[in-house]
Amino acid sequence: MIITVKKPLPELLEMLGGAKKVAIVGCDSCAAACRTGGAPEIDQMAQALEDRGFQVVARVLPQECCHKLLVRKELKVLPDTGVEAVVCLACGSGVQTVADNVCLPVYPANDTSFLGQVERVGIFHEYCRMCGQCVLGRTGGICPVTRCAKGLVDGPCGGQKNGKCEVDPENDCAWIAIYERLKALGREDLLFSPAPIRDHSAQAHPKHLDLRGTKP
Ligand code: SF4
Ligand code: SF4
Repeated sequence: MIITVKKPLPELLEMLGGAKKVAIVGCDSCAAACRTGGAPEIDQMAQALEDRGFQVVARVLPQECCHKLLVRKELKVLPDTGVEAVVCLACGSGVQTVADNVCLPVYPANDTSFLGQVERVGIFHEYCRMCGQCVLGRTGGICPVTRCAKGLVDGPCGGQKNGKCEVDPENDCAWIAIYERLKALGREDLLFSPAPIRDHSAQAHPKHLDLRGTKP
């Protein structure tokens, strides 16, 4: 799940500048789960803007704000509203998807933080940095790129203390966790085999995936 957190409202108000008629677009998927872009948050944002003299002319809640065709369909209501700007309560991909579909200023109400595991409702942990070269098969299913503060993929830095990371003692040392996990699996041998050289071109952006083979 893509984890988003709300921007401070003054930051959004500054972006809005002189626009007075605004539409609010949420996302009923990840942002709703993060309590940044579902129906309650749209209502809260509408109230906050109306309290400050804005006119909220539309509230739109696509099932997924990063889905271009879905968003295009949902935004068809906008041209008749006199809307001057859109406030988007989605992740960065959702905001850009809205911007792709309207010739209006689109402002993010959230900051996009990470790709996370949902521990339980409202509690998330960063689990993947989408590096493009997954090493989980060598590390007992624990991601060192994400869960080691230094992103070390070939072993620990040696600074851990009592199993905690030297960078942030609130966090477990990922490499201690990897060792414990591999030991439990009887695969400590993986710790002694050289890690493959990382191909940093796998992290080149922007990335694309075309499963339909429609692009050359
Ligand atoms: S190694 Fe970590 S960051 Fe890379 S793809 Fe796998 S889980 Fe994601
Ligand atoms: S203490 Fe562990 S988690 Fe922290 S930076 Fe070193 S190897 Fe990574």
